[in-house]
Amino acid sequence: MAKIINVIKGTKDILPQDIEQWHRLEEKALEVFSKYGYKEIRTPIFEATELFARGVGDTTDIVNKEMYTFEKSDRSLTLRPENTAGVVRSFIENGMSRLSPPVKLWYKGPMFRYERPQAGRQRQFHQVGVEMFGVKQPTADAEVILLAVNYLKSLGLNNLEVEINSLGCPKCREDYKKAIKKALKPEFDNLCEDCQTRYEKNPLRLLDCKVESCKAIFAKPEIQKVIQSDFICEECAEHYKELKTYLDKLNIPYTENKLLVRGLDYYNRTVFEIKSNNLGSQNAVCGGGRYDSLVKNLGGDDTPAVGWAMGMERLNSLLEPVEPKKLQAYIVSNSPADAFVLAEEMRNQGISVEFDLTNKKFTKQLEKASKVADYAVILGEDEINNNEVSIKNLATSNQITVKRSELKTTLSKI
Ligand code: ATP
Ligand code: MG
Repeated sequence: MAKIINVIKGTKDILPQDIEQWHRLEEKALEVFSKYGYKEIRTPIFEATELFARGVGDTTDIVNKEMYTFEKSDRSLTLRPENTAGVVRSFIENGMSRLSPPVKLWYKGPMFRYERPQAGRQRQFHQVGVEMFGVKQPTADAEVILLAVNYLKSLGLNNLEVEINSLGCPKCREDYKKAIKKALKPEFDNLCEDCQTRYEKNPLRLLDCKVESCKAIFAKPEIQKVIQSDFICEECAEHYKELKTYLDKLNIPYTENKLLVRGLDYYNRTVFEIKSNNLGSQNAVCGGGRYDSLVKNLGGDDTPAVGWAMGMERLNSLLEPVEPKKLQAYIVSNSPADAFVLAEEMRNQGISVEFDLTNKKFTKQLEKASKVADYAVILGEDEINNNEVSIKNLATSNQITVKRSELKTTLSKI
C-alpha cells in the first residue's frame, strides 16, 4: 500500500458533515452586512511581502515570526496573514477613494500564520471582516462595533464582552510611550525577551504581552498608575467620548481596558475586541480598530478607515453544531432510466433528490431513503405505467399514490 500523506500541522479539513455550520456564518454575514450597505470584496490569497511588512508593521509578531513567505521569479510573496492590508491595496489600486464615502467592504476567507497550533489557534484559519473607508467621525467606529455585535446576535451569541480603548493619535501617543518606558525602566531586566525588544521598537505593544511574569509587572501599582493615566489629547479624547455616547445610546455594553493595544501596528484612536468566557485562553473572537494612516502609508490618498476581523473557527466553537440537512426525496425504483428522468423533473421543480446508481434491491433502497431523505418517491412498474408516483413520508410512514404532475404539491402535504 502506498504511504498516506497527512494534512499539514495547524491546518484542518472542513468536512461535509461540518460544512453547514460554515454556510451559516457566511450566509448570516452576507445578510447582516448587506443591511448596513457593505459589499463583499475578494482579494488574492498571496500578495507582495512588502505589502504586509509596510501594512501590518515590521515590529509585529505577524511580520517578524508568523508569515509564510516564498520566492517565485525573484519576487518575495506571502500568504496573507490578515486581510486589511490586501483590502487597502485594492482600495488604492482600484481608485475607490474617488467614490463618495463611506466605502464599506467585507470579506471572508483563509488567513495564514506560522503560530503554535493549539485549541483556537491554527496555521490556516478563517476570518470574516469589515472595513469602512472615508469617515473620520466616531460614527464609523460605532457603526462597525454595532455591526459586529449584531452579526454575533444574528448567530445567537448575545453574551460576549466588548472591550474598548483609545490609543490616541501618533502625536499624543509619543508622550504615553515615553511614560511607559520610564516606568518600566527599573523592570527592564525582568521583562521577557520579546518585551525587551518591544521596549525600544514599539513600547505600547508591551502591554499586549501574554507572558505571566510580564503581566505581573504591569499589575504593579506604580506601573498601573502610568498605564491608567489619561494621556490622550483633547481631540482624541473627544472622539473617544463621542464613541462611548453612541454605544450607550445603542445599548451596547462595553468595558474600557487600557491594556488593549492590539497586535498590529497600524491602529490609532479606537481599538476594540470582543471576547467570550467560553473559549479558554484564546478568548478573542473579534479584534479591530481605527487605522487612519494606513491608506496613506501604502501610497493612497489620506483616507481615514476603521474595521475588524473575526476568527470563524472560534465563532464555530461557540455555536451549537447545525444538524446536517437531509435530501427532500429519494427515488426508489428498479428502473434507473425512469428514475433518472423523474429525478431531473423533480430537480427542475427545485426538489433535492437522489436515487440508487448501483443496482441495489428495492428494500435496500428504501433503507437508504430513510437515512438520507425526508420522503421516498416510489417508482415501481405500476406507477410507471399509470404515470403516477407513490410518496412515503419517512418520518410518519404515511404513503399515498398521486399523478406525477401532483408530486411537488403533495410532498409538503403528507
Ligand atoms: P490573538 O490575540 O488571539 O492572537 P490577534 O490579535 O492575533 O488574536 P487579529 O489579527 O486581530 O487577532 O485577528 C482577529 C481574530 O482572528 C482574532 O480575534 C481571532 O478570533 C482570530 N485569529 C487570529 N489568529 C488566529 C489563529 N492563528 N487561529 C485561529 N483564529 C485566529
Ligand atoms: Mg495573534
